[in-house]
Amino acid sequence: MSTTKEIRSSFLDYFAKNGHEKVESSPLVPRNDPTLLFTNAGMVQFKNVFTGQEKRPYNRAVTTQKCVRAGGKHNDLENVGYTARHHTFFEMLGNFSFGDYFKDRAIELAWNLLTREFGLPKDKLLVTVYHDDDEAAGHWKKIAGLPDEKIIRIATSDNFWSMGDTGPCGPCSEIFFDHGEGIPGGPPGSADEDGDRFIEIWNLVFMQFEQFAEGRRENLPRPSIDTGMGLERITAVLQGKHDNYDIDLMRHIIEASAEVSGVDPDGEFKVSHRVIADHLRSSSFLVADGVLPSNEGRGYVLRRIMRRAMRHAHMLGAKDPMVYKLVPTLVDEMGDAFPELKRAQSLITETLKLEESRFKETLDRGLKLLGDATGKLGGNDPLPGDVAFKLYDTYGFPLDLTKDILRGQNRDLDEAGFDAAMKKQKEAARAAWSGSGEAATDALWFDLHEKLGATEFLGYQTEVAEGKV
Ligand code: ATP
Ligand code: MG
Ligand code: MG
Ligand code: MG
Repeated sequence: MSTTKEIRSSFLDYFAKNGHEKVESSPLVPRNDPTLLFTNAGMVQFKNVFTGQEKRPYNRAVTTQKCVRAGGKHNDLENVGYTARHHTFFEMLGNFSFGDYFKDRAIELAWNLLTREFGLPKDKLLVTVYHDDDEAAGHWKKIAGLPDEKIIRIATSDNFWSMGDTGPCGPCSEIFFDHGEGIPGGPPGSADEDGDRFIEIWNLVFMQFEQFAEGRRENLPRPSIDTGMGLERITAVLQGKHDNYDIDLMRHIIEASAEVSGVDPDGEFKVSHRVIADHLRSSSFLVADGVLPSNEGRGYVLRRIMRRAMRHAHMLGAKDPMVYKLVPTLVDEMGDAFPELKRAQSLITETLKLEESRFKETLDRGLKLLGDATGKLGGNDPLPGDVAFKLYDTYGFPLDLTKDILRGQNRDLDEAGFDAAMKKQKEAARAAWSGSGEAATDALWFDLHEKLGATEFLGYQTEVAEGKV
C-alpha cells in the first residue's frame, strides 16, 4: 500500500516525466489578489499566465498546491465532521497546460495515471462532461473506452468553470470513483449526488473561451488546461478507504489526538478527533504562511477555525491546552514536503498554545451559559439572538461556533435577533462616544470603523462582517 507521501511524489513524477515543470506550491495568502481570502485551487498562482499577462519559461506545469476552503466562494468549514471527503486544508494535485496540449491529451494523461500507474479498476470510474461538450464526451469514449452511461452530461455551473464575470472560461469534466453500494449517495447529476458513494476525485478544466463584458464569448487562440485532484481523496481510494480521514496521514494525527486526550479515536467522540486533525492542519499552515489570529479579515477566519478545534478539545475533556501538542506529529507527516512547517514550528506551537489558553476560560463559561439557555428551551426551539450575541461579545464565541454547537442539537439560531442585538450595541457605543463634538466627523469615523475594521484586506471584509465567510 502506498503512503500519502509516495502518492504525492508519484503524481509529481508522472507529470514531470511527461514534460511538465515541477513548480512549488504558492503560499496560502495569495500574493497579488486582495479579493481572494485564501488560495483555494492550484490555478490561483497561474491566473496571469492563463490570461497571457505573465510569461513563464515553461508551458506545462505540475504542482501540489496547499489550499484552504474556509470562507468566501468555496467554504467547506461546515462540511468538516459531516462528510467523508471535505477538509478545510487539503492538497490539490494539478497539471497545467498554458496553450500547449488540450482536451484529448489532458484526458489521456489523467486516464493513464489512474488506470495504469495507479492501477484503478476501470469499472469503478465514471465521468461528467458539460452537456454540450461533445468533444470531451468523444475523447472519453475513444481514449478510455467508457460506455455512454458512464459519461454523464451535466448542464449546471458545476461543469462550467470561469475565473470571474469576464476572462478565460470553459467546460470541465470531473472524474468520480464509485466507493460501492453500501454507501448512501447517487451518481453525479442525480437527486442525491451529495452523498459520499460517488466521490469526485479529479476535475479537468478546459479553458476554451474568453468571456467579454458585453456578453460576447470568443474562442481563446491558445486554449489551456487546469486540473485539480485532492491528494487526500485519491489516497483514500488507493489505500482502499472510503473516508479521507482514514488515510495514513490523517490517521496518524487522529491517533496523536487520541493519545494526548486519552479518548478512543473511533468511539463516541470520533468526529471531535477528525475536526481537531483537520483544523490543526489549516491553522498550522496558515500561521506558517504569515496569518495570525485576530478579530478581522483572514486572522478572524483563522481564529474561528482554531476556536472550533478548541471546542472539540473541550468535548474530549481536555483540561489544559492540547491542540498545540499535535504539532510535532503534523511536522513529521508533512514537514518534508512543506519545509515552511518546520521553519515555523515554534511559532505555530506558541500561537496555538496562547490562543488556546486565552480562550479556555471564556469557552468553559460560555458553554455553561449556552447549556443553561438551551436547557430552558423547548424541543427544537431556536436559540434567542441575544444569547448568541452575549456569547459572541462577552465570551468570544464566533457566531459559526455557536451555530455548529446548535447544529449538533438540531437547533436553529434566531439570526435576526442576533443582528438586532449587534445593532443595538453599536448604537449604544455611538451614543456613549463623547468624541470630538463634531457630529459629522464622529459619524464618519464610526462608519469607516464599521465598514473597514483595521485591515488592508477590503475585498472580503464585508463578507466577514456579515458572517458570510
Ligand atoms: P466537491 O464537489 O466534492 O465539494 P469541488 O467540485 O468543490 O468538490 P473542485 O473545486 O473541483 O472541488 O476542486 C478540485 C478537486 O479538489 C476536487 O475534485 C477534489 O478532489 C478536491 N477537493 C475540493 N474540495 C476539497 C476539500 N474541501 N477537501 C479535500 N479535497 C477537496
Ligand atoms: Mg466543493
Ligand atoms: Mg464538485
Ligand atoms: Mg469539482
